[in-house]
Amino acid sequence: MSASEHLIQPGHRACAGCGLLVGARLAADTSDGKIAVVNATGCLEVTTTAYPQSAWRVPWIHSVFGNAAAVATGVRAGLRVQGKDVPVVAQAGDGGTADIGLQALSGMLERRDDVLFVCYDNEGYMNTGVQRSGLTPFDAATTTTPVGEWSFGNPLPKKDLVSIVLAHSPAYVATATIAYHKDLERKMQRALATKGPRYLHILVPCPLGWKFEPRSTIGVSRLAVMSNLFPLAEWRDGVLGRVKGPAVPVSVDEYLKAQGRFSHLFRDERGVDARATIQNMADETARRFGIRAYGDVVGVESPAGHAGAASSNG
Ligand code: SF4
Repeated sequence: MSASEHLIQPGHRACAGCGLLVGARLAADTSDGKIAVVNATGCLEVTTTAYPQSAWRVPWIHSVFGNAAAVATGVRAGLRVQGKDVPVVAQAGDGGTADIGLQALSGMLERRDDVLFVCYDNEGYMNTGVQRSGLTPFDAATTTTPVGEWSFGNPLPKKDLVSIVLAHSPAYVATATIAYHKDLERKMQRALATKGPRYLHILVPCPLGWKFEPRSTIGVSRLAVMSNLFPLAEWRDGVLGRVKGPAVPVSVDEYLKAQGRFSHLFRDERGVDARATIQNMADETARRFGIRAYGDVVGVESPAGHAGAASSNG
């Protein structure tokens, strides 16, 4: 696909190496342009729609931070009245999904609205200054959870948002990340082809907030999966299907040391226990999904049946 054919055009204002823009472009291109998009306030919105310009080549509307799901419900109803069967995609960052937008998302899922909600999870409020969100991982340094005498990064585990979504019994749920772009595209296609409430959770590394070089975005995204901190899973009608985990897992240290937001875990003695805690989180996630844990000799891949949700560092 040439640059001029992408449904998010070059010339947007995102930082170099932004995983969010890679993920959003992959997702949009998968739709062949046959979607209507509702976009909550956040990095994706401010970087692609600096008035009076827009990088989007699909119908697009800006909601406020917390109500993309509710606006999408209204857009879907309006299209239905007009006899148009156009998939409606609500999208937001982790703050607009797991924190500020959780009530609207819950309502959309509960009412069984025919909407696909996509969460672009960069694990913080990056747009407004890298503050902690409910999806910030345990011990990550942010501007509101700094490292110092009184704080050692984020003291709370990452909210298990996928399990919260699954509790609403949606038609389709999946996790994806940009390093595995074919997997992401397949899941976006399946989500678009399904009717009813759907949810896609895409991990999108952020060079600015996670503190790595822009050239490392895809590598960091891959390490999240390789370390079992972010298994790639999908559920149809609540039933867990394929899970992609690492054939040979890497230690969480490989993932953590690739990012400046965790650098204190390697230079402070408190980091030894913290890294062991995070490794336990990854191993527990691997066990829940039936994939190899770090240090396992033998593992089982792609189990069927119910399991807990994917979590990244918590
Ligand atoms: S702050 Fe992060 S998410 Fe936002 S545009 Fe920059 S790299 Fe992308």
